[in-house]
Amino acid sequence: MGVKSIIIIGAGLAGLSTGVYAQLNGYESRIFEHHSKAGGLAAAWKRGEYLIDGGIHFLIAHKPGTPICDVYQEIGTNDPESVVDMTTYLRFVNETGDKIVNFTKNLDKLERDLIDISPDDAEEIQKFIKEVRWMKDSPLLTDLGMSVKPPELRGRFDSLSEMWQMRGFMKYFMGKYSRSAQHFAQSFKSRFMKTMFENLFSPDGPIWFVIMILATVAAGQLGLLKDGCPGFIQPIVKKYESLGGEIQYDSTVIKIIVENNKAKGVILEDGSEHRADVIVSTADGRNTIFRLLEGKYLDDRTMKIYDTWKKFDPTVMVSLGVSRSFEDDAPLNMFLLQEPFRLGSRTFFCLPLRVFNYGRNFAPAGKTVIQAMFETDWNYWYELRKNREAYEAEKRQIAEMLIRQLEILYPGITSEIEMVDVATPYTTWRYTLNDMGSPMGWLMTKDTLMTQLPRTLPNLNNFYMAGQWVLPGGGVPGCIYSGRNVIQIICREDRKQFQTGVKS
Ligand SMILES: Cc1cc2nc3c(=O)[nH]c(=O)nc-3n(C[C@H](O)[C@H](O)[C@H](O)COP(=O)(O)OP(=O)(O)OC[C@H]3O[C@@H](n4cnc5c(N)ncnc54)[C@H](O)[C@@H]3O)c2cc1C
Repeated sequence: MGVKSIIIIGAGLAGLSTGVYAQLNGYESRIFEHHSKAGGLAAAWKRGEYLIDGGIHFLIAHKPGTPICDVYQEIGTNDPESVVDMTTYLRFVNETGDKIVNFTKNLDKLERDLIDISPDDAEEIQKFIKEVRWMKDSPLLTDLGMSVKPPELRGRFDSLSEMWQMRGFMKYFMGKYSRSAQHFAQSFKSRFMKTMFENLFSPDGPIWFVIMILATVAAGQLGLLKDGCPGFIQPIVKKYESLGGEIQYDSTVIKIIVENNKAKGVILEDGSEHRADVIVSTADGRNTIFRLLEGKYLDDRTMKIYDTWKKFDPTVMVSLGVSRSFEDDAPLNMFLLQEPFRLGSRTFFCLPLRVFNYGRNFAPAGKTVIQAMFETDWNYWYELRKNREAYEAEKRQIAEMLIRQLEILYPGITSEIEMVDVATPYTTWRYTLNDMGSPMGWLMTKDTLMTQLPRTLPNLNNFYMAGQWVLPGGGVPGCIYSGRNVIQIICREDRKQFQTGVKS
């Protein structure tokens, strides 16, 4: 028998990871990618002399010696020179600029600063910081339970041992800290504390996720990509190609060929047909299941998930190239606004601002890219896009609104702006085909986090899924692991020892 061939749909993190492990394990793989470059949601694009980083905000577990970092290294990325430690997760500033909280790695200081701001909330603050300290010291922080076997390879003993390993984390899936940030924030008495805690990440996301981020900062395990997404993605592409893998860009898969309940190949938009022994889709889950496979391989459980689970809301992202250095700003800032503003059907009380002042390639010396991102509604942008003029006008209006707000925070900035770029949910969809422009797939909730999504579909052989649609919350480590998991499963089926390095 010849070498088993694998077709992978999508060259995002999951597709690239699947490809690297496929090659390392002696399979012959090819990736078909819709866009003209690799990375998927981990995207960056040039605007004149500026580089806009439109993806990965921070990298979890970037320091060697942790299971996640080992996996980054297996797929050829995470050069220590290209990542800088994030010592402050977020700088939160009130409406008048006289209350500033730096969410730094120094938890004693953070606790003191929070209590100084709201002494009435001291007890709640201490409990919260206690959780961050606990998580900081947990070995699971740099593993996140990902190194356990995928569900398909687990026996009863593995599940028990996983539950034992994860026992400390269970409280985050059930109790008070499983609540959404929005809900948890109501535990505080002060309005400032409520608003701040609601906005430390996504208001809809669970508060334990914020605890985890603060713990990774405190543990020195949260990194910023000095060269943005390309600095993380390109080394993986290079490793994949050096192992003999092939990526075909501008190649959108429109159908997965199935014969006798076996996936046999794909048909591209240009009509060409490509065959392989195994097909792995890392493309959007809904598109894969309901369009590429015509909804023929479904059970009630999968149907229910796609009918009821919530996704991360899409975002509108405004990036500005500014002739100013922003040396003293944190990479991530949140400003409470004097006047809230409206965007579509939503009202915003805070302005989140990323400042790319830590990198090498974002802007020429003395200049900086800054970026604001707002959660928004897919339907609003989808409808608007039908009228190109109205769509472009709305983009301009959002940029103008942002610049007006920034002028209050950074007087004189208007005249220093040299580049404006607005990316909408429609943009995200156009380049990645993710359902409703969702940036991270399924929202993390109590229900979604307790559910294991299989990487296979009922009654369909030789077919697997990887990426953010098979693991709630998506994210860099999870998506990379999901590709690795698929090749682990295939190796087991082929009775082969799973390899993580090149055999010498
Ligand atoms: C702004 C932003 C910030 C983020 N920040 C972080 C962060 O700080 N930390 C973190 O861990 N995660 C972060 N994430 C999430 C993380 O980037 C994603 O969860 C992850 O990159 C998803 O990878 P994926 O391979 O599963 O999917 P994708 O990146 O969506 O890749 C799928 C690929 O498949 C291609 N494709 C789709 N359909 C087809 C088709 N029919 N034919 C051919 N190709 C197809 C797409 O073009 C795409 O390249 C962020 C995401 C965004 C958008």
